[in-house]
Amino acid sequence: MDKPNKRPKNILKLEETVVNRIAAGEIIQRPANALKELLENCLDAGSTSIQVTVKDGGLKLLKIQDNGSGINKEDFPIVCERFTTSKLQKFEDLNAIGTFGFRGEALASISHVAHLTIITKTSEMQCAYKCSYHDGKLIGAPKPCAGTQGTQIVVEDLFYNVPTRKNSLKSPSEEHNRIIEVVTRFAVHNASVGFSLKKLNDNGSDVRTSPNSTQEDNIRILYGHAVAKDLIKLQVEDPGLKVKVNGLISNVDYSGAKFTILLFINHRLVESTPLKRALDSVYAIYLAKGKHPFVYLSMEIAPNCVDVNVHPTKHEVHFLNEDAIIHKIQSSADMLLKAASTSRSFAVQTVIPPISFLDKQQSKVAGAKVYDKQLVRTDSRDQKIDKFLSTTMESMPPSSSNQSHNFINQTSMESSEEPVAAVFQLKETEKRIPSEAERAIQGVPDCSNSTMGHRSSVAQGIVERRQFELTSLTQLREDVKKNTDQVLRDTFKDSIFVGCVSEKHCLIQYGTRLYIFHMERVAEEFFYQRFLDEFGNCGVICLSDPPPLYNLALMALDQEENEWRPDDGPKDHLANLASQLLFSKSEMLDDYFSLQINEKRHLVAIPLLLVDYIPDLTQLPSFVLRLASDVEWNVEKDCFDTICRVMARFYRKPNNHEVLNVGSDKNWKWTVEHVLYPAIKASLLPPKAWINDGTILQIADLPDLYKVFERC
Ligand code: ADP
Ligand code: MG
Repeated sequence: MDKPNKRPKNILKLEETVVNRIAAGEIIQRPANALKELLENCLDAGSTSIQVTVKDGGLKLLKIQDNGSGINKEDFPIVCERFTTSKLQKFEDLNAIGTFGFRGEALASISHVAHLTIITKTSEMQCAYKCSYHDGKLIGAPKPCAGTQGTQIVVEDLFYNVPTRKNSLKSPSEEHNRIIEVVTRFAVHNASVGFSLKKLNDNGSDVRTSPNSTQEDNIRILYGHAVAKDLIKLQVEDPGLKVKVNGLISNVDYSGAKFTILLFINHRLVESTPLKRALDSVYAIYLAKGKHPFVYLSMEIAPNCVDVNVHPTKHEVHFLNEDAIIHKIQSSADMLLKAASTSRSFAVQTVIPPISFLDKQQSKVAGAKVYDKQLVRTDSRDQKIDKFLSTTMESMPPSSSNQSHNFINQTSMESSEEPVAAVFQLKETEKRIPSEAERAIQGVPDCSNSTMGHRSSVAQGIVERRQFELTSLTQLREDVKKNTDQVLRDTFKDSIFVGCVSEKHCLIQYGTRLYIFHMERVAEEFFYQRFLDEFGNCGVICLSDPPPLYNLALMALDQEENEWRPDDGPKDHLANLASQLLFSKSEMLDDYFSLQINEKRHLVAIPLLLVDYIPDLTQLPSFVLRLASDVEWNVEKDCFDTICRVMARFYRKPNNHEVLNVGSDKNWKWTVEHVLYPAIKASLLPPKAWINDGTILQIADLPDLYKVFERC
């Protein structure tokens, strides 16, 4: 066997052209990159018309003709040298912008990996000139030729001298598609410029927009009517964060197979994975699984706040206050979508049957079909209803038949004077939903026509949220923030939902780890935070047959879990007090929490916090009782805190449409996976205590499992 040669090899300095070629190969990775740079130059030169012609996906030919300023004759020799730029006099402002281009590197790089020809004419020149470049240098003298004002850049045989790069590229048609994407994006963003893209010798064009069109026009032409028809305008401005965002985003009725995002920062086409993820998670709340939105955003950030040195092609950027800015955009999108979704009609018709329905005998009289579908089941062998009514899994008796019968018996309410109205039916939207303006005039949302509404006023897609300068509220929100565990936040944020193990426990995956968490605790905390966030801005879920508070409180007192004892006083007296107390607070409850009580002391509406989410209505009686008994009404901060806690406790469990089986086949599992968890993922700030109290537990880690397998 040969001995390995131990002598060190001599270190040789690489030739400059080789260095430049390597550098160029890193910057210009494919035809679409080169095109992006060249388009930016055209726009920088003030062009209003840009025509792109390509052959073989840009590998054979990439020709860009513009009608911009042209290039001065004296610059011909240096225009393709590295670090030459005409954008110097405004270097201070353009520093950051220049870094998006390559500080005079684009043309230089291209000339190292392709045959480059420039034909250009300024307004002062008598005729146009044609110059050819090789490795950054002008070859021969510029040749006078015919031509109109502007510049034509011709790039031929890209990567002819970098075969490895050329071979690594996908097919010409794939490269052509990427070119279409780039031109399309630029055309949307620069609506006042006319773009065209065509293949050499083809008559038709792949992209064509006219100058002075609008962004909406161009989205319609380039992405189709389905995308363009219901776009929502997104606008965010925050002088503190030095950011201004304008955008057009698809609404809840649009669902694409893939996420289309057009992101421009300071008018440069870029990518930002965290922003994309954040938006996807917002849309996940509104769109069906596997469906994605269309988003166009143009951000303007103070140039010195942008860091482009993340990726060699500088497409992926980071910016100062990234989390805060992304959060702003995310919540603005969420608000707009929430408002837009009020115009959708909800197909759910959720019924807790009237008390009489709960009696099997009676149900036969009134028609079996209705009862079988709508009844809360009374069959003691049926596990579903038992689980549904139990408060904790741990305390659930092996057979909870007594409990369920108790509930049913207790709801028969013989003692009640008023007729029992236990039908909490959410009406389907039959009529026109009143405009937000109309509702604003009426003061309260009109519940008679819609099942779910939103308080924010929507005018041409812009939502005005009510702002409250309440110290107590700010403090509560601050407390949540201060108490957040960042690691857990990231775990939830980047987790994948695996499934519900039971009504109380769910599995999620984060990286290679599997976690089990206590759904009710997590959901309760989530809703608590949501109530603080949506303070004064909640939507409404109307109960079409409003139940009297008195009856609800009385029902709750009859339930074992609420632990009424004789020395508490007579039940009807307590129920009366509860009803009176809540009625006296009704103005505040409505204004801040969208909990509406009418003159007759009937509960008219409960808050809407998540679209498509209705809390477990079997808990409504307990909720009313707790609201009356567990809230600290006298101190403002404690009052808001305890109301939010009581509300959150009620909301932590979704209504089970399957059990009630009316108008929807979406059971609680579906709601947890598709409505609740995506929302938790997007915004929950997990408290530090959860690390140690068993709310979330790691149950497996792939590397550890491998270790176990290795031992076997
Ligand atoms: P940068 O854009 O960072 O200045 P480039 O290598 O892309 O660097 O371009 C170098 C210079 O060439 C530009 O500063 C500009 O003066 C000139 N230039 C390039 N393309 C055009 C064009 N289409 N129209 C007018 N001038 C151009
Ligand atoms: Mg440039």
